Amino acid sequence: MTKIAVIGGGASGLACAIEIMHTVGQKSDVEVTILEKLPRVGKKILVTGNGRCNLTNMNSAVSGYRGDTAFSRFALQEYTPQKNIEFFNGLGLYTRTEDEGRVYPLSNQAASVLDALRFECDRLGVKTICDYRAVHLKTVDTGVTTKIVINNRDRFDYVVVACGGKAAKMHGTDGDGYDMLKMFGHTIISPAPALVSLNCEDFTKALKGVRSICKTDLIIDGKKEYENYGEVQFTDYGLSGIPIMQLSRFVSVSPSNNIEISLDVTPDFTKEQIFGYLISRRNVDTGLCENLLSGIMNKQLCITLLKECGVAVNQRVNNLSDAEIERIAKIVKEWRIKVKNSRSFDYAQVTAGGVDCKEFNAETMESRFVKNLFCCGEILNIDGDCGGYNLQWAWSSGRLCGKTIGERINNAQNQ
Ligand SMILES: Cc1cc2nc3c(=O)[nH]c(=O)nc-3n(C[C@H](O)[C@H](O)[C@H](O)COP(=O)(O)OP(=O)(O)OC[C@H]3O[C@@H](n4cnc5c(N)ncnc54)[C@H](O)[C@@H]3O)c2cc1C
Repeated sequence: MTKIAVIGGGASGLACAIEIMHTVGQKSDVEVTILEKLPRVGKKILVTGNGRCNLTNMNSAVSGYRGDTAFSRFALQEYTPQKNIEFFNGLGLYTRTEDEGRVYPLSNQAASVLDALRFECDRLGVKTICDYRAVHLKTVDTGVTTKIVINNRDRFDYVVVACGGKAAKMHGTDGDGYDMLKMFGHTIISPAPALVSLNCEDFTKALKGVRSICKTDLIIDGKKEYENYGEVQFTDYGLSGIPIMQLSRFVSVSPSNNIEISLDVTPDFTKEQIFGYLISRRNVDTGLCENLLSGIMNKQLCITLLKECGVAVNQRVNNLSDAEIERIAKIVKEWRIKVKNSRSFDYAQVTAGGVDCKEFNAETMESRFVKNLFCCGEILNIDGDCGGYNLQWAWSSGRLCGKTIGERINNAQNQ
């Protein structure tokens, strides 16, 4: 009997277990066991995409990933978004593609993605042991073969570590996988929260709940490093929303404590157009400044920006000086907000950093240090953009890992 353990019944682990069985066929002498720490598998899948599961992105390409992107290339090319959609179609799950290539299940329910995976595991005879926390790995030489032993007790021919990273530990992921891989001498690149909101200094709580389409620039030590665009959400602690979350991993990994976000809250207008707008309002408007910008942005945002640039909100628009108009035009296009840090792993969707991919083979996902030990998913030093990229990586790396193990078993049995 060939025994395979998949540690972690998350997205990549489930995909891996299924792919092993698809590759070997239902051989009676192959046993795949998923060892899951929580009372049930796939808990995190249920909360993805706000409960809708953005399961991949049709535009997914290596450029949408950070960390060891060269390593990710092979798996992403072998298992493209289209191939992963066909994989799910084969499990009876159909999808719809929405804006920016985001793919969701037709049911609009993340639960149906998990069900498709669970039911396929059941059909293929994959064993699942829940409430099993793997904490220790070692190898033993039986004289005939080398086995990998989990928790000094359970012996397997192949082990896949699919424990995820450190983000969102309420869904089972707290970095256990890193500790186990360290036992074999693997290197862990310092994990940091990614796809997370930002804590900002002296942030005005009055803006809580306001949303605004913005161009967002990340400024580190006075230099613009990255930019994004989309709906920014103002919260009581700072900034959130997709464009902010996309930039957050760079905040998390930066050693600098001089980090700012520069918001252009009117990206549809040039600075000259804003300037012209303000002059024209001054010529005709005898009302209070608190309403000066409410024709082009949220009123509370207008009040905040005026206060930030030192313009009294209760003065008359037609009394604004040229210098005040200059200051307003500047802050509207370039509102600098000092960032304290990114929020913690508890609030993050993914992990930047993780297991050093150089110590694994990109075409098989096998450890270069320990034969028959594999890794897949977020545990590796690869993190993707928002919009289905991270699950795309989980399916692709998990399936590649599963195919490698399945083919190796087939080859051994054909010899
Ligand atoms: C709120 C939220 C929303 C998200 N939305 C999306 C989205 O819409 N689209 C997208 O692409 N990505 C999304 N992601 C990211 C995506 O869910 C992850 O990148 C992906 O699930 C990673 O897959 P994985 O298999 O590597 O790890 P996980 O899915 O995290 O699974 C790891 C599993 O291992 C188990 N485990 C951990 N340690 C042990 C141990 N010691 N022993 C046994 N079992 C263990 C855990 O309990 C868990 O079940 C979201 C993440 C969060 C938190």
